[in-house]
Amino acid sequence: MTSSCIFCKIISGSQTARIIYQDEYATAFHDLFPHAPVHILIVPNQHINSVNQLTIDEKSLIGHLILVAQKIAAEEGLTNSGYRLVINTGAHAGQSVHHLHLHLLGGKQMPMMGD
Ligand code: 5GP
Ligand code: ZN
Repeated sequence: MTSSCIFCKIISGSQTARIIYQDEYATAFHDLFPHAPVHILIVPNQHINSVNQLTIDEKSLIGHLILVAQKIAAEEGLTNSGYRLVINTGAHAGQSVHHLHLHLLGGKQMPMMGD
């Protein structure tokens, strides 16, 4: 828990969010400013700034986050239509919240990467 981190506050319940999933390792909630009909953030409960801070110790945690995304995508009816998982890392990617998170985006045709 980092006291100034908005996602740590959401995980601990001190900041409101539309949480749709939580377990011992991960929390998922709706993005406040959605870019697609389905836009959900999946975050580790442990504060990790970005992909840059990951080590071998987080190997199973990262796999867990993707499996949570897969489960939520299924619940949201996206399995067949498809979805995008995005992890912005650092300034050039536009990372604005420095608590590692997967964006799960779906429910519309998305532009090809680079468009
Ligand atoms: P990034 O730009 O770091 O990859 O993504 C951060 C995401 O967090 C953005 O899509 C933004 O809309 C979302 N976000 C920022 N603050 C809050 C908040 O307080 N609550 C929720 N639910 N989402 C937030
Ligand atoms: Zn945090």
